[in-house]
This record gives sequence, structure tokens and C-alpha cells, in this order.
Amino acid sequence: MNIYDYLVRAAGVDPQGVAVCLGDQLHQTWSTLDDRSRRLARSLAVKGQAGDRVLIASPNCAEFPEIMFGTWAAGMAVVPINAKLHVREIAEIIADSEPVAVLVSAKIAEGLQSIGEAAIEIGSEEYEVLFADTGASPVARGKDDLAWLFYTSGTTGRSKGAMLTHGNLAAMTDAHLADIDSPEGASALLHAAPMSHGSGLYMLPYVARGSRQVIPASGGFDPAEFCELCVMHEGVRAFLAPTMVQRLRLAQDDQTPFPTNLELVVYGGGPMHVSDMRAALAAFGPIFAQIYGQGETPMTITGLTREDHIDASDTVLGSVGKVRSVIELKIVGDSGERMPAGTPGEILCRGATVMAGYWHNPDATKATLADGWLHTGDIGTLDENGFLTLLDRSKDVVISGGSNIYPREVEEVLLAHPDVVEAAVIGSPDEEWGEIVVAHVVLSTDIPHTDLDGHCLAHIARFKRPKRYVVHEELPKNANGKVLKRELREV
Ligand code: AMP
Repeated sequence: MNIYDYLVRAAGVDPQGVAVCLGDQLHQTWSTLDDRSRRLARSLAVKGQAGDRVLIASPNCAEFPEIMFGTWAAGMAVVPINAKLHVREIAEIIADSEPVAVLVSAKIAEGLQSIGEAAIEIGSEEYEVLFADTGASPVARGKDDLAWLFYTSGTTGRSKGAMLTHGNLAAMTDAHLADIDSPEGASALLHAAPMSHGSGLYMLPYVARGSRQVIPASGGFDPAEFCELCVMHEGVRAFLAPTMVQRLRLAQDDQTPFPTNLELVVYGGGPMHVSDMRAALAAFGPIFAQIYGQGETPMTITGLTREDHIDASDTVLGSVGKVRSVIELKIVGDSGERMPAGTPGEILCRGATVMAGYWHNPDATKATLADGWLHTGDIGTLDENGFLTLLDRSKDVVISGGSNIYPREVEEVLLAHPDVVEAAVIGSPDEEWGEIVVAHVVLSTDIPHTDLDGHCLAHIARFKRPKRYVVHEELPKNANGKVLKRELREV
């Protein structure tokens, strides 16, 4: 097997069908994408051999699919890098993953050159030379062979490379088509979220079904452009981070076209607050599905289907849904014992999407995959109906006066206040209590903290309410839009 087979199939079924669009413009048919990918594979085979790595660092661009599939045709693995990383962080990943080719945007090429790192600029003459020869036949691969070396976002420490195999990505594809979406007929995957992360991996189920890949000309998420593309293309699906769903809704005004053909938004990667989801459902209708996953088990631990969102209770909307087809899940206490329904513990999972381990990091692999289970580092509860609710990353839990306080719960309450735009809750060391709850907030109007205190007292137990408030213009976030709590701890 080689996940390149998805492209072979799409190109065989409809060679002249639209494979890749840049905005509203046709970029490649399936046969062109197949041909270009095989040509790239021929050049990569000169630089290295099956099992080697190819690094890509760029905002979303129309060349992403040919680079991904070309790498797989050569039997090599893609190392996708978030384009917002600092060049020094990219250089660290280059040193760790030792790629045979580094393909990057013009801006990143310039940055890397300034620190003495060689790279090929995507779209340049040097890049086009890689496609000069006739194509090579795709190299056969086994299910345990490396396909995607996925560096974690490093919110909790140094970034590590999760090794995802052809078998992992094939299982992710099957599970997506079984649990989340089953596109039929003309449909499009609109890549507004970074293709170096979830959006790029989601290409696979849609290539498997012959759905076109639409790359916004801006290379990222611009709500007005997104809405226009959802009018131009049919049967649109997109993966969006929760903050993008919010921005899409807030951008709706008389000038923005309503995204008529937007059939499915898969959101995940960070918490979606219940009030925000209700507002999104009211604005766009029941077009949402949620996934909970990690780089270590891409996009696949639990899911909340489109149907689950209809007439859902706060408990269901506030959950991350039910266990996915290819996954087994358990919640365990400190000594590994299974927790009963409703009791918090660490979320462990195992199954066909779980990574082979961390690249060149046996200690981290041993700790994270202990006893054959992926230790997610997330704390959650399973209810009697099988819905999983995430409480927090284990290291984010605040222990105050001996009681566990889950920041997410306090954040939900704060966000329900009409003047709170953003909220992140952390623990701060305190002599008397061990830790106290501190809320970092962004406010739409200058209201006294006593108002927020009164609001919290009305909704949650007294001991959970923040003892201190810090007001920000904006909360610090990493390149994926996740709030950097470690930076808030330094405030
Ligand atoms: P990453 O490996 O960068 O994709 O980060 C994975 C982490 O993001 C998970 O361990 C969760 O803590 C968080 N996460 C992923 N999906 C969700 C979701 N649907 N809701 C809340 N948090 C999520």
C-alpha cells in the first residue's frame, strides 16, 4: 500500500476532472496532478531514497498537493511546517528531521538563507527543474512506513516529531469517511486553515473521493474571500479552528455574501465554547461537525457529528463527541485505574491512527505510548451515553486549597458574560492556597472586575471563581491560534 493510491484512483476515474483550484481558477486536473507528482518523485529519487524526508514550509499554496503526493510517490515522508514559525525554529526541525529537500515560500527561503540554510523556493525556476523529467512509478510502501512527520505545536514544551505511517493516514481517511463526512458528487475541500496541519491531512479523504481541492489565493483565512469561494464552488467543506468559525460569523454583514454552498465545517484543535457554537448554528444552520484529535493520532479520537449538533443539549454541545470508529478510549486515574462515568481522569486511546512513536526520541515515545496506549495529556470525563467532555490539559489544571479546578469551566462562564471577548484561566502560585485562579480577559467595554466576580458567583462554585483579573488587548497565541498559557504565566 501507499497512500499515493488515492491519487491513482482519482486520476483513473476522472482524469480531466478538476483536482486543484487556486481561488476560482483551475490549477490542475487529476491527470496533471498525478503526472507532476510522479515527475517530482523522479527528482527526489536522485536526492535520496525511500524512507527519506521532504520538508515543506509555506502558507497554503496550489503546489501543496503535488509536493505531498510527489513525496509519497518517491516513498518518502512529508515534514509539514507551520509557516508562521520563526526561521530558527524551522532550522531546528531541519536539523532534527534531516530532509533531502526543503521546499519553502519565498519569504521563508529568504529567512533560511540569511542563517545559512539551503532551501528551494516553491514556484521558482529551481523548483520547476524538479519536474523536468518524465514521471517515476510510485514506490510500494508498507503500512508501517513513515508518511508524515508531524511536529507538535510545542505549547507544553519542545516540539517533537510524531511519526505517522501510511497505515495511520489510511485509517484516518477511512474513519473520516465513516464518521464525519461522505462527500458525493461535485464537492470541494476549501483550505482556509493551514495545510501544514489538519487541513492538509484532510486532503486524503477528499482525494479518495475525487473532490476538488480549493486553495484561497490569499493562502489563508480571510472571511470575505472564504464566503466568496463558498458561492463559486459547489458542495464546499472546510476544516476551521474554533476562532475561525467565530470570525466567519462576526464577518457576516450586508456586504459579505452568505456562504451558500458551505455544506460542512469541521472544527476542532481547540475548545469551542457552547455559546459560540449556538451562535454559529443560528447563523449558518446545522453544517458543523467537531473532531478531537492530536498530532499523535491525527484528527481522530472522538467526533461530534452534524446530527449530534441538532437540538443538542449544552452537555452534548460542550462535549467533543463519541469515540471514533478506529479508536478505543478509556479514562484513567493516577494509578491507571479506569474511572467510572462522570469522573475526571486522563484520556488514553489506542487504535489504527495512533502514531508509531516520536522521531529520534525513545524516552518520549516510551512515556507517551506506555502499555500500548496513547497518553493524551488531556483530562476529561465520559458520560453514560459515551460523550467525552474535555476538561483541560493535565498540566493546566489548577489545584487551589486541595480542590481541582478546570480552567475550561471557568472560561466558559466568563465567556457567557456579554462584555468578555476572550478568556484564559490559569493557576498562579499562592502561599495560602497552593494556587489561586487568575483570569486573563479581553473586554469589549471597560467594566469593573466586581461585575465579573458577581457573574462568576452566580454561575459556579465560589472556590472556582478567579481571585485576580488581568485585562489584555489580545491574548498571546501560537502559530495555530492556540492561547499560550505558558506566556500568561509569566505576566
Ligand atoms: P495538536 O497536537 O497541536 O493538534 O494539539 C492537540 C490538542 O489540542 C489536544 O490534545 C487537545 O488538548 C486540543 N484539542 C484538539 N481538539 C480539540 C477539541 N475539539 N476541543 C478542545 N480541545 C481540542
